[in-house]
Amino acid sequence: MSKRIAGPEIERLIQLLAKVPGLGPRSARRAALHLIKKKEQLLEPLAAAMGEAVDKVRICSTCGNVDTSDPCMICTDPRRDAGTLIVVEDVSDLWALERAAAMNARYHVLGGTLSPLDGIGPDQLNIRSLVDRVAGGEVKEVILAVNATVEGQTTAHYLTDQLSGFDVKVTRLAHGVPVGGELDYLDEGTLAAALRSRTAF
Ligand SMILES: [Zn+2]
Repeated sequence: MSKRIAGPEIERLIQLLAKVPGLGPRSARRAALHLIKKKEQLLEPLAAAMGEAVDKVRICSTCGNVDTSDPCMICTDPRRDAGTLIVVEDVSDLWALERAAAMNARYHVLGGTLSPLDGIGPDQLNIRSLVDRVAGGEVKEVILAVNATVEGQTTAHYLTDQLSGFDVKVTRLAHGVPVGGELDYLDEGTLAAALRSRTAF
């Protein structure tokens, strides 16, 4: 057991910070010290913001997004096209697509990908609710924006199958050359997928 350098409250703060993605024990100590030094400007507002988040954060019962209201802001935004659903694995993907601001659509967050080896089957993901939304009849196109991993593609195949009985267009991202990307810098997998999913010019 290593020698303690501070009281239990500070040790606990460091331990919890170390669990945040991107922070290890060393960064956690630095972050904790920074917060403590900036008690009024940073530590107090952060604690208050976290307290409020604890009280208010909800999972949207329609799409699986996180927000402070249920249904979420995206699901209730009348300016969004309710006919287009973008299916993503995680909320982080939703945020990335929103940052890209490419579509004014609605979303459906699966909460992961099918992975039988890890015990993740269709029932562990928000698939039933997706099928129900499509069955509602308002959705005209489902865009499968899943990752280009084996699990992501397995999930895409499964979803395509599940949605095949409905009058809905199922599309997926072209696994493409990133905008501004030079072919030379792409890995083979990306390049091969880009070739396979080539479209008419
Ligand atoms: Zn929602």
